[in-house]
Amino acid sequence: MPNFTEIKGSCFCGANQFTITQPAVDTHHCHCSICRRLQGAAFVTLSIFPRDGFHWTKGGDLQTYNSSDKVHRNRCKNCGSPLTIDLDAMPNVIAVSRACLDPNADPGQPPETLRHAFWPDRAPWLEGAETLPKVAGFDK
Ligand SMILES: [Zn+2]
Ligand SMILES: [Zn+2]
Repeated sequence: MPNFTEIKGSCFCGANQFTITQPAVDTHHCHCSICRRLQGAAFVTLSIFPRDGFHWTKGGDLQTYNSSDKVHRNRCKNCGSPLTIDLDAMPNVIAVSRACLDPNADPGQPPETLRHAFWPDRAPWLEGAETLPKVAGFDK
């Protein structure tokens, strides 16, 4: 993708910051039960980048939890933000929490990779969420 511009991201507290200089090869919304529980979310959006293009500009010393012997999930030691995932099966890439990229950052993935992964495992309580009232703050 010739038009990719460098993007940045960080954890919530800012102790860990990174830049990415190559576009994502894949972005998907993961609905698997492991991602959901480990990130405390209905689903988790992950962008997968070439490892060569991922650079820590601050911090980078993370807490690692091995959700299997081949999948290593890395969080900020201070604020707990889930930042990256290392996959033994794919050593040349790094999975990054899409929500930890700057809000306007475009990961640059091929659009055909966007999909809902592990859709049959999705949280049942998400059903119908798109049609619920949409309010500012906690207003009812
Ligand atoms: Zn942090
Ligand atoms: Zn998952």
